Amino acid sequence: MISQYNTNLWIKILKKEFSFDDFRPMEESHRHYGLRRKLVNLLKTKGINNSDVLNAIGKVPRHAFLDKAFLEFAYEDRAFPIGEGQTISHPYTVAYQTQLLDIQAGDRILEIGTGSGYQAAVLAEMGAQVYSIERIKKLYDRTKPILKSLNYRKIMCFYGDGFLGLPDLAPFDKIIITAAAPEIPETILKQLKIGGVIIIPYGEGEKQLMLRITRTEEYHFEQETLDTFSFVPMLKGKEEKR
Ligand code: SAH
Repeated sequence: MISQYNTNLWIKILKKEFSFDDFRPMEESHRHYGLRRKLVNLLKTKGINNSDVLNAIGKVPRHAFLDKAFLEFAYEDRAFPIGEGQTISHPYTVAYQTQLLDIQAGDRILEIGTGSGYQAAVLAEMGAQVYSIERIKKLYDRTKPILKSLNYRKIMCFYGDGFLGLPDLAPFDKIIITAAAPEIPETILKQLKIGGVIIIPYGEGEKQLMLRITRTEEYHFEQETLDTFSFVPMLKGKEEKR
């Protein structure tokens, strides 16, 4: 994105068509780059040690996924409202779930809960092909063009109920659920490749347990229980309100 921007700016400079405003985003991107470096260092101190995850967090412009009101704080380790009662997860939570996925370039990932699109962008930055579902039409309509404008071609957005997954595109190498799942959806487990993992914040109420479930054989799954987090609920059905 940045190099594309620079090329456009140089064309403008050569044609003498630039204005003061053309330089503003450039300052911004340097500043944001610095803030991202700080965020990456913070995540390291919190235990994120996968260099591919840290590199991706260092690259994805989180400020582009947030309402302008929160721009100043985009690189703090905080969750923010993204409208419709939903939130963009803490960068630590995004990094934690991504680290558990152990992304390899080319992995086909199903994400349930597109929300702001930030988590999907981090996965795409690591070379994954991402299929992301959102149940709230307004969020789907807002996020899809943001991802397009940032040139994330490896992300396909779907408006639908994540409890159903994407059976036509299954099986997936890995699955990530980014909302609190009240149950472990069997339909989703069936869409996982043998050897694949699903990362799922499990439980209702305030706190969820992060689970990593590995499909070791056709009918055999192994479950690990990890740390506690707080997610918005995974809800059934679609919300069409415009
Ligand atoms: N990954 C997101 C996190 C957003 S919060 C990000 O990076 O910003 C969780 C999202 O899950 C919300 O947008 C919510 O609407 C969505 N969600 C909840 N239940 C869902 C379901 N059954 N299917 C698809 N999306 C769901």
